[in-house]
Amino acid sequence: MTPTVSLLLLLLLGLSRAHPLHDEENEDEDDVDITTRILTSNNATDEILLEGDLLAPKTRNAMKCWYQSCQWKKGNNGLVTIPFTVSSQFTSWEKQKIDSAMKVYHSSTCIRFVPRQNEYDYISIENRAGCFSALGRVGGRQVLSLNRQGCVYHGVVLHEINHALGFQHEQTRSDRDNYVKINWEYINPQNAYNFYKQNTNNLNTPYDYSSVMHYGRTAFTVQYGRDTITPIPNPNVQIGQRRGMSRWDIIRINALYGC
Ligand SMILES: [Zn+2]
Repeated sequence: MTPTVSLLLLLLLGLSRAHPLHDEENEDEDDVDITTRILTSNNATDEILLEGDLLAPKTRNAMKCWYQSCQWKKGNNGLVTIPFTVSSQFTSWEKQKIDSAMKVYHSSTCIRFVPRQNEYDYISIENRAGCFSALGRVGGRQVLSLNRQGCVYHGVVLHEINHALGFQHEQTRSDRDNYVKINWEYINPQNAYNFYKQNTNNLNTPYDYSSVMHYGRTAFTVQYGRDTITPIPNPNVQIGQRRGMSRWDIIRINALYGC
């Protein structure tokens, strides 16, 4: 490992240390917002992650996935078939959680997850150190990690799958400054890039506080309890929801893939 990579790794590992899990005595998965759960789970990962849970792309182009060819292909039947494998390390209960998340796409979009046979491009769902995914279709086998200890929750599975479909975090949208204020004073400068705006295709949809892709308000905070993201003008709007896809999340998938 080069010194530069090691340094980056250390910086990334520091990202989520300030996010204690609040529900250790409560198994209810709705008690913790998705990003808190994801960032907590990624505490010890040795993967190079961007924005907490995105695998660093192999090429610069991957970050421009929206405009490039890194979407999954639609077949003549109008369905976007995405082959996948699931690690045998998952229990049948965990596989059921993954399966039920996939059913959300099957029932409301033209995305169809199918067990891989010999397709070249596919998603390999693995029990690695953290919850993370590549952005969009990257070509060949691409890992979507759901650590068994902290990531096999309905909302987290949806969040990571949405990354694999090509969706970025909602608060990095190009127009986000009209809807949220980033409190840079509570963000370690070394982590600031996690809040940089991206050149996103917003698909003519409104900014969506309720997106499953939106960070929680204290994501990456350096000071416990202090917001790094504050909705504007109404600071009390809930962000970082934890239950599942919003109406707009679904609409965007259908728009991006022409369902
Ligand atoms: Zn994410």
